[in-house]
Amino acid sequence: MEQVYQKIYRSEIPLPRNPLKALNSYIIMGSEKTVIVDTGFNCPESKAVFYDGLSQLGVDIRKAEVVITHLHADHSGLASELYHQGARIFMSRGDGSVVTRMKEAGGWQKQHDRLKLFGFENYDQAIVGAHPGLVYASDGDLEFTVLTEGDVLTVDEYNFEVISVPGHTPDMINLYEPGHGIYFSADHVLDQITPNISYWGEEHPVILKQYLDSLRKIYDYPIKLMLPAHRNLITDHRQRIDELIEHHAQRLQKVEAILARNGREMTVEGVASEMNWRIRAKDWADFPPSQKSFAAGEAMSHLEYLVWQKRVVMREENGVLYFSR
Ligand SMILES: [Zn+2]
Repeated sequence: MEQVYQKIYRSEIPLPRNPLKALNSYIIMGSEKTVIVDTGFNCPESKAVFYDGLSQLGVDIRKAEVVITHLHADHSGLASELYHQGARIFMSRGDGSVVTRMKEAGGWQKQHDRLKLFGFENYDQAIVGAHPGLVYASDGDLEFTVLTEGDVLTVDEYNFEVISVPGHTPDMINLYEPGHGIYFSADHVLDQITPNISYWGEEHPVILKQYLDSLRKIYDYPIKLMLPAHRNLITDHRQRIDELIEHHAQRLQKVEAILARNGREMTVEGVASEMNWRIRAKDWADFPPSQKSFAAGEAMSHLEYLVWQKRVVMREENGVLYFSR
């Protein structure tokens, strides 16, 4: 437990068997109520540290307001449990509605079909079953208050404005306190690691473009302290945003070059297997299954962007996508 600003604490929640390693859960200690931003996985290792932090600060969960920045299980894992202990849960409409349905079987069938779309040869149940979003997700049984762009959460002298930043997920939200220049960036802007940009289907087209637009949206904000959901706090958000924009420009070039080099149609899995990944595995076959599906989602978001830019051609045959230059 570490104090990062007046009345604001960071609790580093371990994320077992996950390359993200830990989640920053933030606790804002007001005189009348406590606001908690994100919770960690619904698993014993995460929960022990999360609740220990709350008891160190003497938080009364019945007077807590819990903001879940987006649907991923490392952020939303304890939403239902905290709701049943009397906390009020706040989420965006889009991501929040997914959290309430996360454990439904149908959603995972969709995931399964997507792996087929990406051309996975061995898209067996193991890949989907091993997904942390399923294993460590919150129980869907909860009610929540919808937060949308422009809503304000007040805690004593702080007025946190809700900022909509679609990209990492279709309806992710951030909190911005203009008076103090504090910004909770969730997984929108991270230091040391780049936020995963995946594919969200035709309902959320060209999500990488949405992500880049959301980065540009906050670029000029006079932020003094950015509080991300993983790794280090950020004091120069503009430099980090420049780096992230450059990272994706390079990845787009790389994906285009892979297609050009091969000179034939490729599946998403084929492209993903030739990209560079920051993961300890000797080759693509050696990737843990859940990381393979993340990598393919990331490859697809770049392919989708290149198709939108007309730099790449896409066609579908028997439920599998093929790309060429
Ligand atoms: Zn996330």
